[in-house]
Amino acid sequence: KERTKEEILALAEEMNVRYVRLQFTDLLGIIKNVEIPVDQLAKALDNKIMFDGSSIEGFVRIEESDMYLVPDRSTWLVFPWDSSQGKVARLICDIYLPGGQAFEGDPRIVLKRVMERAHQAGFSAFNVGPEPEFFLFKLDAEGRPTQEVNDEGGYFDWAPLDLGENCRREIVLTLEAMGFEIEASHHEVAPGQHEIDFKYADALEAADNIATFRLVVKTIARQYGLHATFMPKPVYGINGSGMHCHQSLFRNQQNAFYDETDELGLSEIAKHYLAGLMQHAQAFTAICNPTVNSYKRLVPGYEAPSYVAWSAKNRSPLVRVPAARGSSTRIELRSPDPSCNPYLALAVMLASGLDGIEKKLPLALPVNRNIYIMTEEEKIAAGIQSLPGSLGEAIEVLAKDSVLREALGDHVFHHFIEAKRIEWSMYRMQVTEWEREQYLLNY
Ligand code: GLN
Ligand code: MG
Ligand code: MG
Ligand code: MG
Repeated sequence: KERTKEEILALAEEMNVRYVRLQFTDLLGIIKNVEIPVDQLAKALDNKIMFDGSSIEGFVRIEESDMYLVPDRSTWLVFPWDSSQGKVARLICDIYLPGGQAFEGDPRIVLKRVMERAHQAGFSAFNVGPEPEFFLFKLDAEGRPTQEVNDEGGYFDWAPLDLGENCRREIVLTLEAMGFEIEASHHEVAPGQHEIDFKYADALEAADNIATFRLVVKTIARQYGLHATFMPKPVYGINGSGMHCHQSLFRNQQNAFYDETDELGLSEIAKHYLAGLMQHAQAFTAICNPTVNSYKRLVPGYEAPSYVAWSAKNRSPLVRVPAARGSSTRIELRSPDPSCNPYLALAVMLASGLDGIEKKLPLALPVNRNIYIMTEEEKIAAGIQSLPGSLGEAIEVLAKDSVLREALGDHVFHHFIEAKRIEWSMYRMQVTEWEREQYLLNY
């Protein structure tokens, strides 16, 4: 909800707010904030709060490091949890340079820019409904996370098997108190694994929601003596955590993906969008699956995709078209995981789809079989390609994609690739427990 400066100042007073967190995210999607006492709020709302961006990941510039926080007044929110020093509120900010230009390294500004392209193309909204999954682990006596899950529950199980239930319910109640509309919350397939789905929103709000969601889940879990993690594959041999993204484009309040006259109920726009997603899927994997660990999830056998294919029937492919039609017509991209920077992830998805629409890319045939049991020859015959097998591979595919480079802008594109190449090469040098077990005695 859009608010004026005066309204926000009045609300802060009324709700006994003592501190305000000016929130933004770095290149890697980590929430950062500058906390100000409430008497600085008017100054913040005048866009006059400065910070030194030079030590924020992906923010470094050679010339200058002074940056301005420009609050988005529609994101005003008072955290519902108690604090002995009075209430804490937050505002999500965009980053500006002293000269008054938007900072091209700010992920939120990157997403806004791609959304602006969608508006230029006649779309009024890019709606995204995310399905983030996460694990709850017990803490040890020193308060450090262990590898022990707190239940033996499985998909849609009830308590008492689902011991995470109380914690999950508290998370849902807190989110609702913060204005989230929760559509579903349930135990996931793996022990200790949960999913909470919130209502779709236009992409900027959806990305803000994902960032806030991760913060709330972690905060509430702590209160229950648990550690919540969005690490994509925390435990070998069981399902990892994904963040499927349901998406659709709207035009004049109508779902532009729906066409009742089509055999599948999908418009030409939807088909080109889907073709665009598939065209750039290998390249955007680095953004949507940005950690070394992400690639331990994208393997056959654990309900996560590892091939570039789509289907209206089967859940193993990268993209599924859920059965709903009419205003709920949408495409579900199943590769993203919750370790991604939500702003960049939504930006590359949209840019890929828009590229498909602009170039009228043809849509490949659906693959309605279980790809995991197809032979190599069958996959080649059907033209099915694999997603990158590692972060190292993914980064090099991204580095060659000019459409995504344009979408991310040179600053983010180069800094992201540089940071991830370093991460990958650090990982490559590690010697793991698995290697010692395999080789120490035998060689
Ligand atoms: N956890 C699975 C994944 O990694 C998804 C399971 C599901 O939602 N059916 O994507
Ligand atoms: Mg789900
Ligand atoms: Mg799920
Ligand atoms: Mg899903």
